Amino acid sequence: MDGRAFPEDRAICLLKTFYLLCGPIQRNHGKEYIIPYLSPDLIVLRSPSAGLLRIKMAVRFDSLPPPSYVYHLLVVSFLNLFTDHRYQIKAAKNGSSVTHGQNVTTLLHNHIRHEILLYTDTPVEQLDAAWERVFEVLETILNKLKSVWVAAHPVCTFYCAHCLRSEELEPDVVRDPDWYRPPEDPETDQPFSQRLDNFTGIDPVPCGNDSSEGGPPTVPSPLRYPCFELTAAEKSQIKDYLIRLPAVPAVPNEAAAVDRAMIEEIMKEMREKPAFIIQDPQINTVGLSANQVTLTPAVYLYVFFL
Ligand SMILES: [Zn+2]
Repeated sequence: MDGRAFPEDRAICLLKTFYLLCGPIQRNHGKEYIIPYLSPDLIVLRSPSAGLLRIKMAVRFDSLPPPSYVYHLLVVSFLNLFTDHRYQIKAAKNGSSVTHGQNVTTLLHNHIRHEILLYTDTPVEQLDAAWERVFEVLETILNKLKSVWVAAHPVCTFYCAHCLRSEELEPDVVRDPDWYRPPEDPETDQPFSQRLDNFTGIDPVPCGNDSSEGGPPTVPSPLRYPCFELTAAEKSQIKDYLIRLPAVPAVPNEAAAVDRAMIEEIMKEMREKPAFIIQDPQINTVGLSANQVTLTPAVYLYVFFL
């Protein structure tokens, strides 16, 4: 096939339509496209950088879980929210992570566990915006999921940010809460604003790992429940609360343990089923680890007929 005659624009359009490709992202060196399925790297989740607070939620599919390729489509819908050229994107076989400003938002997936994990690491000063963003991500991927796998029944679990900050071995969680109803059908769903209760203020709420055992609760509400609007004074009080938390002991934490288990499962699967082999010598320099793909006819055909 004559490379110059290859309808590259149509190929890109087609791959985008089927959520196999994200881009273009305009970089200094030119346009960049990301095909998560072709990313051989793995993301190993680390503790948040100093000064950042972590929000975490998990989505589990208990009945008729989606097939593995669907998770890659969800990564593309996730990345479509982050195409600003200033953002640093890492795409991997088990998800994607985006550094945007002082924030880091990560999506990890594990089709063996039928699970997606969402993380946003944020300065406390941007906690309200972070809640808003993580729900934007959640709604985006669940709506995409419903459009390709109608039978999916997502069950959302929300982790206590105070417990994550304290690296509790068993963080307190809220599973399938009555204050959030995930999208079911875009045609008939109520608007998002009516499917999520409105939380305001920083009143203390109970947490199973609150060190004020026996006393009144101390954990500020926005560490457990989504809050899209916080005043500067409220953020300052939350910051003071976090500073007063006891120092974290130097032991392996829950997030790291879960992550290691997830990586081991994925590595096992990769050993059993080699990720992929691209024979065409033209695309050996495709720069997969850098997530940059040159869209040659071979790549197009490979991806589309996976
Ligand atoms: Zn807690």
